[in-house]
Amino acid sequence: MENKIISRKFRLLSQLMELHGENSFKTKAIANAAFKLDKLPFKIIDKTEQELSAEQGIGKSIASKVWELIHTGCIEDLEALLAKTPEGILEMLTIKGLGPKKILIIWNTLAIETLGELYYACNENRLIEAKGFGLKTQEEIKMAIEFNMASQGLFLYSQAEKLASSIFDTLKEMLSDQHLLSYTGDFRRKLELLSSVELITTASAEEILIYIEKDKRLIQFDYQENKIRTVHESGLPIHFILSNVNEFSKHLLITTGNQQHIALLEQLYEKGVPNAESEEAIYRQLNLDFIEPELREGLDEVQKAHDHTLPNLITYDDIKGTLHNHSTYSDGVHSLKEMALYCKDVLQLQYLGICDHSRTAVYANGLKEDRVRLQWEEIDSLNQTLYPFKIFKGIESDILGDGSLDYPDELLREFDFVVASVHANLKMDEEKATLRLIKAIENPYTTILGHPTGRLLLSRKGYPIDYKKVIDACAANGVAIEVNANPLRLDLDWRWHRYAIEKGVYLSINPDAHRVEGFHDMRYGTLVARKGGLTASQCLNCFDLEKLDSYFSSRKTSIK
Ligand SMILES: [Zn+2]
Ligand SMILES: [Zn+2]
Repeated sequence: MENKIISRKFRLLSQLMELHGENSFKTKAIANAAFKLDKLPFKIIDKTEQELSAEQGIGKSIASKVWELIHTGCIEDLEALLAKTPEGILEMLTIKGLGPKKILIIWNTLAIETLGELYYACNENRLIEAKGFGLKTQEEIKMAIEFNMASQGLFLYSQAEKLASSIFDTLKEMLSDQHLLSYTGDFRRKLELLSSVELITTASAEEILIYIEKDKRLIQFDYQENKIRTVHESGLPIHFILSNVNEFSKHLLITTGNQQHIALLEQLYEKGVPNAESEEAIYRQLNLDFIEPELREGLDEVQKAHDHTLPNLITYDDIKGTLHNHSTYSDGVHSLKEMALYCKDVLQLQYLGICDHSRTAVYANGLKEDRVRLQWEEIDSLNQTLYPFKIFKGIESDILGDGSLDYPDELLREFDFVVASVHANLKMDEEKATLRLIKAIENPYTTILGHPTGRLLLSRKGYPIDYKKVIDACAANGVAIEVNANPLRLDLDWRWHRYAIEKGVYLSINPDAHRVEGFHDMRYGTLVARKGGLTASQCLNCFDLEKLDSYFSSRKTSIK
C-alpha cells in the first residue's frame, strides 16, 4: 500500500469526522497525521508499528490505525462514518472548493444530498443565500460539477449548445461563402443528452484542420474516413463530417436521422436513400412529407409522413404565457412584480402563473396560509395596474407521502390553479410512486402534475413510475402534465409525450423559473416537446389569456 493511499484514507477520515461533528481536537490530529503520512521520506509498509509511532506527529494511536489499514484494508472508525454518510455527500467531498464546513451547510440547511441536487441549486441561485457562499463560490462549484458530469461522457443539450454555436460561428466566419456547413446527428435532433456534437461541411479536410489548429479551444484530433474528430477543452467531442457538394443533402439526411429512422427510409427505396438537391426533395422522392429533424427517431414519423398526418410541431412563438414559476415569496430571486413585468414587457406574454412552494417545503420558504393571502392581495393590485396582462394565482403544492396535497380543500379551492409536485421522500418503488401520483391526480384541485419523475439529468434518476397508468389517470381526471423546461429536468420525458397526446392530455411547457432569466428555459422545453410531437393546440400555455381563464374557471366550477 502506497503512502499516498494511506494518507488519503486519513484525510477522508478527518473530513468525515468534521462532517459528523466529532471532537475537534481528535479531528485535527487525524488531519495533521494525513498530511504527515504523505510527506514521510520512507515507505510506510517497510516499517514496524513501533517505528512508525516514534515518528514526530504520528504517535501510538495513529500508528495502530495505519497498521489496521495495512493489514485489514480498512479502518473501523472510517467504515462506521462511511456507513452513515449518503453517497452524494461523499461525492461532494471530491469537488474542488467544497470542504466539510460548506458541505454541512448544504446538507443541513439546504437539505441537499446529491451532486445533481447541488447543481440544480446552483442553477436556481439557491447557494448564494446560504451562509459562507458567494456568487463566485457558486460558479466554481457549478463548473466543478459540470466537469464531473463531463467525465461520464455525456453532456446536457443546454451545455453543448453554447459551445457548439460558438464553434459553428467561428468556423462559418473562417470558411469561404460557397462552403456549406450544418449541424447534424443527435445535436441536430435536439436530444437532451449528447455524447458529441457533429457538424457536416463541404469544406476540405485541410481547411478544417487549419481551423482546429487556430481555435485554441479544440485539443487533439483524429482524421479517418471523411470524419475529423476533435475535443473541446470542456471535454465535449466535436466531430466534423466531410461531404462533397453534390451529395451534401443526402449526407446531411443520413447523418441526422438515428439508425432506425434511416432503416425505415431504406425499406422504401431499393437503392438506399436517394440523392437530391435538398432534404425536402429526398423525402418527396420517397413519397413522404418533410420530416422535421427532431422527429427522426424511427418511431411513427415515417408512417405519418406517408399518410400526411405528421403533427404541426409547436414553436417557441406559439407560447402565450407561462405557468409554474416562483418569486421571493418562496425561493425565487426576483419579486412577483419583477417576474410579471419581465413576462409582460420583455417576453411579451399575456399571463404569468405564479406557483410558489407550499408550506411543507420549509427549505424553500414554503408559504403558510397567511402569506398565501398576502400574495393574493399583491396579485390583485398588480392585476389592476398591469391589465390586460394577468397573474394567475397558483401554488406548487407538495404531494405528501400518502398522495394528499399540502393545504386544506378550503384553501386549495381559492387558487386559480394548482401544480402538484413531489419534492420529498423520493426513494420509492414503482408501485408506491405510481399510487402516490395517482392519488394526487385524483384530487379535484390538481390542475397540472409537476415534474412527474423528479429526475435530474445526469445526476438523479428520479423515482420509477408506471407512465401509462399515470398518464391514463391524468386523462381520466382532466389533469395536464408538465414538461418541466429546466434543461436538467425535461420531465415529462419526450418519449411519453405521444402517449399523453393520444390520450387527449394537455401538456404544459413550464420553466419553473426562480428568476427572470429562468423563463428562457421554455425554449428547451419547446425543443423536447417538438421531439415528443406536441402541437400548439395541445399545449396548455399556448392558450391565449381568455381561453386559459375560462379553462381554469370551468375546471373549478365542475368540482362538486
Ligand atoms: Zn418543484
Ligand atoms: Zn417549482
